[in-house]
Amino acid sequence: MKYTCTRNGGVSISASEAILAGISPDGGLYLPESFPHFSLEDISAMAKLDYAGRAARVIGSFLEDFSKEELEHYTRSAYDQSRFGKNAAPVVRLSDSGYILELFHGPTSAFKDFALQMLPRLLTASARKNGINEDIVILVATSGDTGKAALEGFADIEGTRICVFYPNGGTSPIQKLQMTTQKGANVLVTAVDGNFDDAQSGVKSIFTDAGYNRQLLSAGLRLSSANSINWGRLVPQVAYYFSAYCDLVDAGSIPLGDAINICVPTGNFGNILAARIASICGLPVNRLICASNSNNVLTDFISTGIYDRNRPFFMTTSPSMDILISSNLERLLYLECGDGDQVKEYMAALARDGRYQVSNGLKHSIQAIFDCGYADDAMAADTIRDVFARSGYLADPHTAVAINVYEAYRACTGDTAPTIIASTASPFKFPRSVLSALGADCSGDEFALLDRLAEISGLTPPPALAGLRCAEERFTGSIPPMDMRRFLSEGFTRQ
Ligand SMILES: *Cc1c(COP(=O)(O)O)cnc(C)c1O
Repeated sequence: MKYTCTRNGGVSISASEAILAGISPDGGLYLPESFPHFSLEDISAMAKLDYAGRAARVIGSFLEDFSKEELEHYTRSAYDQSRFGKNAAPVVRLSDSGYILELFHGPTSAFKDFALQMLPRLLTASARKNGINEDIVILVATSGDTGKAALEGFADIEGTRICVFYPNGGTSPIQKLQMTTQKGANVLVTAVDGNFDDAQSGVKSIFTDAGYNRQLLSAGLRLSSANSINWGRLVPQVAYYFSAYCDLVDAGSIPLGDAINICVPTGNFGNILAARIASICGLPVNRLICASNSNNVLTDFISTGIYDRNRPFFMTTSPSMDILISSNLERLLYLECGDGDQVKEYMAALARDGRYQVSNGLKHSIQAIFDCGYADDAMAADTIRDVFARSGYLADPHTAVAINVYEAYRACTGDTAPTIIASTASPFKFPRSVLSALGADCSGDEFALLDRLAEISGLTPPPALAGLRCAEERFTGSIPPMDMRRFLSEGFTRQ
């Protein structure tokens, strides 16, 4: 199976080339030219496997230049019990029709671990398959979650290095500690004196500095990114939707073949696009429900066909969804219209005017698949409190947005089909917002909040978060943006 580009259907490259490149030189994103198909028999056979086995089947079907054995080996190590616990992606019943797919049992307690534990393995294998011998150097500018998930994924993976820049004072205390205490011989972390944009533009200017890149190459280092538009980050996410369906069938909650709905709290549109891809590949899906917070650019797009980022930006209690440009939406546009020239025009309009309007035909084909809705901070907080009171289930603010939007969808449509609601983060990652939603005392430092939340909920906080209390800080420094190049090359060429 070859890969093509959302802005040029003439492109045809291998899976490993697509993963290595990340983004196409014309700015487009890579997508398979055709999709694998899973029959109900295939799904039923998959149900007998554990998570790593299911993931190897699904991911492997997209990556033809990787062998079955290779994939099995990568998923076994990526989703090992030591990282994800006994069940990597458990399904928990919430109500008569709502099922929570818990995606936060990985090392950083958020769903990005599913992709970022696989990506280093896929990237290094892709490099080997394409005769690239340099070490891959991942650069990340982060305001929080992605940086830590990438560090955990790449730490001590042979043939890779990772360097993370975060804005000084621009992350939560726990997020900062998660990064500054990171273990691994191939990792570098530093604060940058400035805000997220300063760190981000610093990284961008390093990527585009040809002279500096040549200098790194001669030292055996090749820059790459772990950005969420890389196909290698998207494809591992398709697997857990198949796995959740298998679990529902296994538990007798649905007969094999019945269609489910899937509701996803959405930011960059990656996670919900993975659900769409699962349905293209044969997973029985009825509606996909796109849930947003107050930054509801996608709710408006799905309802009107107009994408308009010219609007106020809100900092919400679900920060990982505070996004006004959902990069992976470009892939949906191409999947539904199949016209690279058309997608290119929309993306040019987005870059030029911050806005585009899709054709009526495209709008209708998107509406034939997707429902949408949004919940602001107050609505999400109400949901956290109600759900906990009603069922004892503790949701994080991102998950609460999805539960709220799903319940509104169900009330408005009367659709009682079983629905999987993606839970993207542990409530212990956002103890302050969750405690405040429950009306509990929010005084004290982050660790006091963790303890209080544990006490109220009767749950055990993820050991990696609780363990930060006494973890040793390795990276305490801070640099001005102009020193980012030097920090990187001195840090890595000394090794
Ligand atoms: C990244 C993230 C999201 C948004 O996922 P997308 O794939 O960008 O739509 C939602 N919740 C959490 C906790 C996240 O970290």
